[in-house]
Amino acid sequence: MELAVATTALSAERARIAHDLEWLSIGTRRDRDGADRLRAGSDDAVATLEDELDEGVVDDLRANLDEVDAALARIATGSYGVCVDCGQAIPDKRLTTLPASARCIACQRKQEHR
Ligand SMILES: [Zn+2]
Repeated sequence: MELAVATTALSAERARIAHDLEWLSIGTRRDRDGADRLRAGSDDAVATLEDELDEGVVDDLRANLDEVDAALARIATGSYGVCVDCGQAIPDKRLTTLPASARCIACQRKQEHR
């Protein structure tokens, strides 16, 4: 994987996530106002559930943003495309699909089953 290609892909991914986060935080604020009005009525449980769903999505996006930033940092330090666990090269095909990959497929599987 060419670093320039990876940098472009990661920058685009970063912009997309930042945009989604901004959009969600605006949407969440608007929903909170609505939720406050609902709480004055009877629908506490629904409003709370919606708050939790939003927070889950925001947490996921923040985690993705961290992964993208970490990948950009690896490009800067010259360790991009190398598995952070076993030190093997991560296949190009995986990096093309998931430019922020920090691990080869085998190590990623281990990580997820930990
Ligand atoms: Zn590995």
